[in-house]
Amino acid sequence: MMNNDKKRILVIDDEEVICDACAQILSQEGHQVDTASGGMVGLEKFVRFAPDLIFVDLKMPGISGIEVLERIREYDKNVVVVVITGYATIEFAVESMQKGAFDFLPKPFSQEELLIITSRALQKKKENLEREYLIQEKERMRQNFIALVSHELRTPMVAVMQYVELLLSGVPGSVTSRQSEIYERMKIRLNDLLQLIDRWLRLSRIEELKIKEGFSDVTLATLIDEVIEMVQSQAQEKQVKISSVGIPSMLTINGDREMIKEVFTNLITNGIKYNRIGGSITIKRREDDEHHIFDFTDTGIGIAPTEVENIGREFYRIHKEGAAAGSGLGLAIVKKILDIHGGRLEVRSQEDQGSTFSVVLPKEETSLNDEGGKNEKNENNDH
Ligand code: ADP
Repeated sequence: MMNNDKKRILVIDDEEVICDACAQILSQEGHQVDTASGGMVGLEKFVRFAPDLIFVDLKMPGISGIEVLERIREYDKNVVVVVITGYATIEFAVESMQKGAFDFLPKPFSQEELLIITSRALQKKKENLEREYLIQEKERMRQNFIALVSHELRTPMVAVMQYVELLLSGVPGSVTSRQSEIYERMKIRLNDLLQLIDRWLRLSRIEELKIKEGFSDVTLATLIDEVIEMVQSQAQEKQVKISSVGIPSMLTINGDREMIKEVFTNLITNGIKYNRIGGSITIKRREDDEHHIFDFTDTGIGIAPTEVENIGREFYRIHKEGAAAGSGLGLAIVKKILDIHGGRLEVRSQEDQGSTFSVVLPKEETSLNDEGGKNEKNENNDH
């Protein structure tokens, strides 16, 4: 457990008497105290002294207490700041609380008031540190788990797959047709398992990849055509017809091409997997003031109203007679990717009639030509 008694405290106030009084009272309690007579010196000392708690006067010559508070909080969100207010400044007090001050101490204050507020503020600091520790611990466990899955699970699985291939090749010894049939089935099962691991790893990495660097303009019409082409043989097996209507050829979104492709691929393959023989999938675009919306409508088994809200939860699958096999990760991945792009997924469905999965993307991320939305054909052009 952390020792709550002896801490480092910095007092920033242009009134020498306040600094001295605080230093004396707080040192008597065993704390290590430093003082600064102005905002600039205060900030320098903050960096060097690394205090657990800071008292800062709101009204000082030079940079204001509010500014000191802002800069400190920008630097370290865990540090606890108490503002000292000298005059009737309820607005300032409110403003400083909004800017992240823990509490405020009106002048003049008694020794007891100072000690009570110090003790509460240090307790807050302790809680901040504990919370930070838990967050880091959780993140560490998540990273470890990802590493464990990829190395301890995926690597041996790939090795087993290679052994099966080797056996199948007949090199270690001749294989009867019955044995070869069994090896082939093993391969299919192993492949499914590897795919599951890969999807799960992908999902975990997307969470890490919350950065928008590397985004580029992606032309959606071409991308959708590419995906339709890619899944054609799967669609033909079920005689499912796929068509896309009204996607402007110039429409682009600022995003990650591979990720967006994964969204479309997942939605279209689901549309095939959960469709009836001879069914169809239609992809249409519509818009509202702020969004471009892409509807993926199928004529499949549909989803019960009670299940719709569960769609997209990791590993969630609906157990339904005749439904295709899967991992329940596809839509979780779709949702994460859309989230990164500032968009979302909406689902409407009628059981045994079909479903519409709508990809909603913000217009500010999209444009209709290469010049950031400046459209020559725009009727509202004012020149
Ligand atoms: P998977 O398809 O691998 O099970 P998904 O996350 O893609 O995983 O889908 C989760 C569940 O949502 C599926 O198991 C299925 O029950 C349901 N589902 C997804 N897409 C459709 C669809 N187009 N029509 C009906 N049900 C669907």
